[in-house]
Amino acid sequence: MLFPDDVYPLFDKGLQHGVVYRSPSCRLSLFWGDSPGRGDLRDDQIESYANTVSARAATTERLSEYQNRGVQLVKVVAYIDEATTDICRMMNGRIFELAPAAQSLMSQDPLVNSESFWKANHHFSQTPTSNMKPWLPPYHYNCRTRIVPYRQPANPYDAALDRYHNLINLQNNHIEAIVNQAMNFDFASRDKLFKHLAKHRSDLKVSTQVEYMAKVSTLLKNPLKQMGLAISARDRTLNLYVWGPRVKVLDGVQKHDFAVFSLDKKCLKTFYPKEIKYIMNNLDPKVHGKVMMLTDQKISKGVTMAVGEHCVKCYEYIIDYFEHDDTTDEQEMFSRLRFEKEWDSIPEDLKQRILAVDKIVLERYADWFDYNVFNEYIKTIRHRQKLEAAKEMRHLDA
Ligand SMILES: [Zn+2]
Repeated sequence: MLFPDDVYPLFDKGLQHGVVYRSPSCRLSLFWGDSPGRGDLRDDQIESYANTVSARAATTERLSEYQNRGVQLVKVVAYIDEATTDICRMMNGRIFELAPAAQSLMSQDPLVNSESFWKANHHFSQTPTSNMKPWLPPYHYNCRTRIVPYRQPANPYDAALDRYHNLINLQNNHIEAIVNQAMNFDFASRDKLFKHLAKHRSDLKVSTQVEYMAKVSTLLKNPLKQMGLAISARDRTLNLYVWGPRVKVLDGVQKHDFAVFSLDKKCLKTFYPKEIKYIMNNLDPKVHGKVMMLTDQKISKGVTMAVGEHCVKCYEYIIDYFEHDDTTDEQEMFSRLRFEKEWDSIPEDLKQRILAVDKIVLERYADWFDYNVFNEYIKTIRHRQKLEAAKEMRHLDA
């Protein structure tokens, strides 16, 4: 017998459905018309169908073997190359509990009924969720994706990728592991390095490749850098995007130093100053897969560090700006709104200096302007004065 008994019904059901997973990039999928009889199939179609059914049988077999061995978790491992389909690219690295996965395999559509699947998983192909229902390969005809028993990796970088693939927020040690890994990456070839250097040397004010690569490493070491991960729609590789907090103006345009690393190919893809809106295009979940920002978590640390002496000194200039109707006041209102978010982590002496400025502003300028940022700013600092006054009272009572 070619396949276990329970696979035969799938075979028939699959033929009725034809191929259901439709993706323009799914080059290996075969399509044929409505309800074909078996006799209408070409040999290669029958072969690919048989391959797929045997892949399903292999999954079933593995599951029962793993169950006997007491395996708790299984991981989806896709073979990644040019021909890997989107669906497998997105499923790669997913970890499922074995028992529910085995359960759902029984009810899982033979091959892929992608539409119902995507609906149940919130269009997960682009905006996946971390609590997706178990779903095992094969995902389409001629699928090369397999399952393996999952073991907790010892290495923090692998642990970071496991979390990423399952869309679980990374912790600081995971983010550091990814940054450390990127630290070791070079361009894929010397030629690529020379070409990128030639393009960007004047913008970056560097002349040698050593200086160029030193800038990349400076960016990676910057505690205030911003980062995101995504599977690029362009080449479907998993990229790490990193950009610096500092704005530099080139030909009147504000740009940030920006580096792209391929974590799949273990290389630096490019490094040059870029406008923030274009940087963010790389992290648009409508366009790219498995988008995850890394710095929402990291930045809170960074911003805490950022509310230092220099920020407060700049904020103290706001009185001058108001006095001279200098529109730079807007930047300092933004700073003050940010201080408020970080309030608890600001050192006491700096808090007192901020509050002193707030007080003067409220006394002298509170009704000078009327527009959204200004009004929010005034409301915020007034609220803070009240909170601080209430705290004073509690101290006096005690
Ligand atoms: Zn596949």
